Amino acid sequence: MRKKIVAGNWKMNNDLNQTILLIEKLKKIEINEVSVMIAPSSLFLKTAKDLLHDFKIEVVSQNVHQENKGAYTGEVSCDMLKSIGISTTLIGHSERRAYFNEDDQVLLKKVKYAIDSGMKIIFCFGEQLIDRKSNKHFEIVKSQLENTVLKLDSESWSNIILAYEPVWAIGTGETASPEQAQEMHEFVRNCISNCYGDLISEEVSILYGGSVKPSNANEIFSNKDVDGGLIGGAALVLSDFNEIIKANS
Ligand code: PEP
Repeated sequence: MRKKIVAGNWKMNNDLNQTILLIEKLKKIEINEVSVMIAPSSLFLKTAKDLLHDFKIEVVSQNVHQENKGAYTGEVSCDMLKSIGISTTLIGHSERRAYFNEDDQVLLKKVKYAIDSGMKIIFCFGEQLIDRKSNKHFEIVKSQLENTVLKLDSESWSNIILAYEPVWAIGTGETASPEQAQEMHEFVRNCISNCYGDLISEEVSILYGGSVKPSNANEIFSNKDVDGGLIGGAALVLSDFNEIIKANS
């Protein structure tokens, strides 16, 4: 049975004190069968990991570089993450694609490197508004996957979580309708099935991301191919994040 997951992407929010405060509050929430993850700033991953060492919340990285070491100022490698006990990283978030020029070529290197390093990845993808308006969203998503994760071998898939995040819904307050989310998730699962078979495609958790909030989480998560959410803004507000976790339980 595939995992239900709610992952909070804190992006470039929360200084050290705010990180500690929010984690202390998170420690008090009830977590049952859903896997909960948070991705604080890389500066505070170790602090977060230490604070949560006895708790059912996994601390994950927002990003990783594609090379293991060397002259890459400001970057972080899988070995560095693993050395502080972090074993999962986001890759391909739309903000990395848009503001840091991460194209499919770079992302392929990143996913290969992370998987070869024994890490789990949450691979993000999704179309822009213009793609959806011109009815190219399936084509775009297919090519984003074909150029990256669908190039990996079948053994890699036990370490891959996918996150469909239509760019027009991220941080905009606009959400894909439950029907739009379900049809894309089903499409993605079919793409995986065509490459690797049903056994693998049925086991992959596919999260939805894009303005998920307490008021829409239930509807979105109740779709059969939506296995949880990647949450931005609402992950910074304890009560909202808690409600979203409950909606996926
Ligand atoms: C995200 O950044 O992955 C995200 C989904 O953000 P938000 O929930 O704020 O739209």
